[in-house]
Amino acid sequence: MTSPSDPAGKPVRCPICGKPATEVYRPFCSKRCADIDLAKWFSGSYAVAGREEDEGDGQDPFAGPSDGNDTSDDDKK
Ligand SMILES: [Zn+2]
Repeated sequence: MTSPSDPAGKPVRCPICGKPATEVYRPFCSKRCADIDLAKWFSGSYAVAGREEDEGDGQDPFAGPSDGNDTSDDDKK
C-alpha cells in the first residue's frame, strides 16, 4: 500500500518547528532551524563540561599527610 502523495517514503519533519524538512537542510526545514539546533548542542555541551569541572573541585587526591616530605638537610658524609 503506497500513498501517491508520499514519493520519498517517509517524510522528515523539522525537529525545531515541525515543518516538512527540505533536501538541503535535512532534517531541518531551513538554515535557521539548523542553527537553532546547533546552538542547543553547543550550550548543552558547555553546561555539562562546566558541571564536571565544578564537581572535581574540593577534593585533591594528592593533598594529605605527606610522608616523604623531608626538608631537613642530610649532609652527613
Ligand atoms: Zn524548522
